[in-house]
Amino acid sequence: MADLYDAVVVGAGTSGTYLAWRLAEKGFRCLVLEKEKLESLGRSIGPFHMEEAAFEKFGIPKPEMGELLHRLETITMWSPDGNRGVTARLATLDMDKPAFMERLRGYALASGVDFREETEFAGLVWERGLPAGVKARTADGEEEMRCRLVVDASGMGGAVRTRVPATPWWENDPPDDLDTLVVYMESWKNLEGYLNPGINSYLHFQGWYAPSYGEEMIVGVGMPSSPEGARRRHRAFASTLPFRGEAAWRTEGRVPYRRPPLSLVDNGLMVVGDAAFMNKPFSGEGVTSAFAACRIAAEVAADALTRDDLTRDALWPYNVRYFRDQGAKFAYLTAFMPALASLSPPEVDFLYSVPGVFSEEGTRALNLEYEMRSDPEKMRKALPTLVKGIASGELRPASLARMAYMGKTAAELRRLYEAFPEHPSFFGAWAKRARRLWRKADSVRHAYFRTLLRKWS
Ligand SMILES: Cc1cc2nc3c(=O)[nH]c(=O)nc-3n(C[C@H](O)[C@H](O)[C@H](O)COP(=O)(O)OP(=O)(O)OC[C@H]3O[C@@H](n4cnc5c(N)ncnc54)[C@H](O)[C@@H]3O)c2cc1C
Repeated sequence: MADLYDAVVVGAGTSGTYLAWRLAEKGFRCLVLEKEKLESLGRSIGPFHMEEAAFEKFGIPKPEMGELLHRLETITMWSPDGNRGVTARLATLDMDKPAFMERLRGYALASGVDFREETEFAGLVWERGLPAGVKARTADGEEEMRCRLVVDASGMGGAVRTRVPATPWWENDPPDDLDTLVVYMESWKNLEGYLNPGINSYLHFQGWYAPSYGEEMIVGVGMPSSPEGARRRHRAFASTLPFRGEAAWRTEGRVPYRRPPLSLVDNGLMVVGDAAFMNKPFSGEGVTSAFAACRIAAEVAADALTRDDLTRDALWPYNVRYFRDQGAKFAYLTAFMPALASLSPPEVDFLYSVPGVFSEEGTRALNLEYEMRSDPEKMRKALPTLVKGIASGELRPASLARMAYMGKTAAELRRLYEAFPEHPSFFGAWAKRARRLWRKADSVRHAYFRTLLRKWS
């Protein structure tokens, strides 16, 4: 009889490694399967960011020099014309991703997690309607590993999720091309011109610049689905920046931009990280937002494993705790951000000129608490300026109407997720309402993404 693991986690990215570490610390036997070589992980990204506060929050020691590239103290959100920026103090660590992943894996190994590299998940083993293990392909052929719980942490493709037959509690559709952002980055050397410190973000281009390795600067953009479009958009974005440089190296990848599956569990199954589309809706970053989910998933899984009850009902609290908190905030932002981002550049420039619309406190709240916040008193005072802007055509009534419509849909979604059903038996009616609201939100986002594709592809 093969070894019995408590959990097999598919994918040794940051999500799978963190979750397995957390479960192993609680005394459970975990195996992580990774189709690539472990030492290659993170290399395609290079430098990446995590907010400093996340280390304490998720119980991860801070990085040392070498892995730590820079400590950045501010984030500035710029108007499209580059004339106005709102700067918030927010410490972010810029790190080497391969080194961070190796360290995270070290903690997991020290807690007893087994890793198998170049081992590709190929399917589930079922017994009496429950997953009882996984089949995996290795250089030596196919193997079976027995376990009580399977966790999909395989990234956007959802290697497990998409292979499990759909049930009323499990969606297995792969992400549509229009539900993904291509992230294209260049690391520039020989820089000349004005460089603002910290992270610099340009909502209108889904663009940013921030320090890279050594003296280099990362200049990056996000673009729906099209790699060629991403390069064109990058060139246009780069031409608006107040500095010039030469690309020392380039890289690209994809992140999901869509709602998570409506349920993250079924019998013997859980899904976390990019596999569950848990990226921050305002930046596409997904490491720490997934840690928040992994922490809940590990606690719920530990409880279920202890009781030896791995049914949907036993794993359901992961849905409830994730969706009522971060999931509800992300639902709001996923629905609302496209309406904001689709304003024309002059409209956004105009909004930057209205006191109180973009603020330091709002920038901090968005990045740390995932809240859209504006000071009601300042907004009340700004009302006459906004009305004047509409009268003079600086803000089109249609744009305002779209924002109001999406604001309402986003708020309804948030309230719905905050009331995520306590038990699977109430899920059907809830899911019906959620699907109706998401259809509205998705159609506005897809229309915006298509406009970008027409413009840049
Ligand atoms: C260019 C770029 C820059 C980014 N920068 C940042 C940043 O600065 N900060 C941030 O927070 N986020 C950033 N992100 C997003 C971040 O990289 C992801 O959100 C995060 O890596 C998701 O981690 P994950 O473990 O869920 O998935 P992944 O990192 O995708 O890991 C999944 C793992 O599963 C493995 N796998 C897949 N299928 C199988 C299979 N069948 N069998 C076995 N293994 C399998 C994959 O090989 C992979 O190693 C960036 C993304 C890109 C593309």
